[in-house]
Amino acid sequence: MSKLNEDVYIYDAHCHLESIKDISEQRHLAVAATELKDSLELLRYRQTNSQAKIGLGIHPWYIKSNSTLTSITEKLEAAILEYQPDFIGETGLDKLKPEFGLQQEIFYIHLQLAQKYNLPLVIHCVRAYNELLAILSKFGSVRGMVHAYNANSETAKQLAKKNMLLGIGNTILNQNSQLSKSIEKIPLEQLLIESDAPYMPYGAKEFSSSEDCMFYAKQLAENKKINLTEIISKVNQNFITLFSSTVAR
Ligand SMILES: [Zn+2]
Repeated sequence: MSKLNEDVYIYDAHCHLESIKDISEQRHLAVAATELKDSLELLRYRQTNSQAKIGLGIHPWYIKSNSTLTSITEKLEAAILEYQPDFIGETGLDKLKPEFGLQQEIFYIHLQLAQKYNLPLVIHCVRAYNELLAILSKFGSVRGMVHAYNANSETAKQLAKKNMLLGIGNTILNQNSQLSKSIEKIPLEQLLIESDAPYMPYGAKEFSSSEDCMFYAKQLAENKKINLTEIISKVNQNFITLFSSTVAR
């Protein structure tokens, strides 16, 4: 394996503000909101790290059942117009959490606005891949990534048809995961690497960080029998393609 340049790092396709220690460090990161109240802080962060991509959205764990769908739509749209995010997210579906019906309706709103403003989506999906594909089938032109992907290669193929890349995180370190069993068949063109920092630690660690992406890239290189340099160059390129704004800010 060729030796890596010290400056080489993985562009982290999914993390959160809480994990960022040095806000002025210029680094390619896609930082997602979990609630709309994160918007201003995210905007300020992008002002100090011009390589950061920021997302606005309501994570399915943080939906409030007392808000109406109209008010959610209005608030999300107003935030998009005010803060000009690079993507919509984190949004999605989680079967292990309550209000699955409401989650689907709120996810739908995110998709509508992503389509309207031509923004990529960062999607959280836990045990809901069928429902995710069903909702995506109602939209012709959305694109984005499914973060912390853990399903088979057939589902990956279906998601590729809907312009969805897949975020690879600590699940790749578990040789028994569905992801590890199917990764050989999933093309590198569809992959991104992510830390979900600080929320996706592995081993005995309490928190994850963007630096962990290198461990996942090494495991990916091993599983796919592809040179690490090639893995890094391709996932970084995929990051740029997905998150590059089509609208000038
Ligand atoms: Zn996340």
